[in-house]
Amino acid sequence: MKAYLIFLILIIIICSCETLNAQETIGDARCRVYYTENALGFEKWLNGRSEVKTSKADQVYRIPVVVHVLHNGEPIGEGLNLSTERIESQVRVLNEDFRRKEGTRGYNEHPDGEDARVEFVLARSSPTGEATDGIVRVDMTAKEPPPFQGNPIMAGAYHSFWDPNRYLNIWAFPGFKDTALGEARFPVSTLPGLEDQQDQDWKLPGIGEVDGLVINSLHFGTSNIDSKYNLGRTGTHEVGHFLGLFHVWGKNVNGGPSCDQDDFCQDTPPTGFRVSHCPQDLKACDGSRAMVENYMDYADDACMHIFTKDQVARMHAVLENSPRRKSLLTSPGLNLPITGTPGDMGTFIKIYPNPASGRLFIRFETAPSYPEIRLTLYDGLGRVKMSQQHIVGAAMEWSIELPYGDKGVLLLRLETGDHVLYRRITTL
Ligand SMILES: [Zn+2]
Repeated sequence: MKAYLIFLILIIIICSCETLNAQETIGDARCRVYYTENALGFEKWLNGRSEVKTSKADQVYRIPVVVHVLHNGEPIGEGLNLSTERIESQVRVLNEDFRRKEGTRGYNEHPDGEDARVEFVLARSSPTGEATDGIVRVDMTAKEPPPFQGNPIMAGAYHSFWDPNRYLNIWAFPGFKDTALGEARFPVSTLPGLEDQQDQDWKLPGIGEVDGLVINSLHFGTSNIDSKYNLGRTGTHEVGHFLGLFHVWGKNVNGGPSCDQDDFCQDTPPTGFRVSHCPQDLKACDGSRAMVENYMDYADDACMHIFTKDQVARMHAVLENSPRRKSLLTSPGLNLPITGTPGDMGTFIKIYPNPASGRLFIRFETAPSYPEIRLTLYDGLGRVKMSQQHIVGAAMEWSIELPYGDKGVLLLRLETGDHVLYRRITTL
């Protein structure tokens, strides 16, 4: 067991970076970002999509989060098995920081500062449609170590992973104090040719495409740990990467920060260094004051409090366009599942016959308040076999032809308004 913990920690410290392409390794091992694309290619793609329409000027983007707590069999609230309050504190800090919330540490009055209008919600329904608190506790001692050499995100996914198209996966991962605080996977574009590379680098057998971020358990959320990184800002920083932000000193694959590097944001003064603590008199490359309070630098947690307008515009462009980011915004994980209690969708929909052979009927006993119904049928491996949209009212009943040759169990998902209903259908 102990050997396994050491193995996991060694993954963080040594990191088998050679197995993955185009990664950045930060000199002091505080944070690591995984890129799968050429930065300039990604920037060109993103620039062409950076106009977020004025009609969306007030839009708040909501993202469902699942936290996988990797522990060693400790009771809840002890050691690596972080308490629910601790996990909720991380989500609270994310919301304070990404909403520049007044009365919190995330507030600022900087002229370039902006409310990022991104909110985070612990998932309310699981990938199989069950109610959840968005926390998955995984006893690592109950499972063999990963049969591969990978980064902590891949190791986390080996233990527990939810569909990255629907959830922001965050792993609370074992680590040492004040080092390797967090790692994140950078978003990807829709540029052609990318899929092959993703398959090769980020696919796990039986699991699929892996995405998300890890936070060192010691620095997860707010705590009394004796460290300058105990206010949850590691989470804010890593989510910044996950939504397409570079460090303020720019993207630099080979070597440390330099004034030649760019973070592609005009309103973050360029710097040729990473800050630590909270220096007030540092000058940026252009002679202006360095923005040491930016979440995407390395200052102490207590020092950080700003995302700039350009950083916010980048995050919005990513959320509007990038695979596995855009789809989070309409995830059923944001909604409570239908449980079949009175008043829920389950009471006025009849699905028959079950078991079914050939054809399945779906009938509405009364019209739902939201007429548009989206129907999706999954096979036992979670692959989409059918996807349709219907308007209830024009017809109160319709039938679907079940996929030929799929004998076994299919999962039917019906979505209307903010409700989702799942039914297992046995096919004969
Ligand atoms: Zn970073």
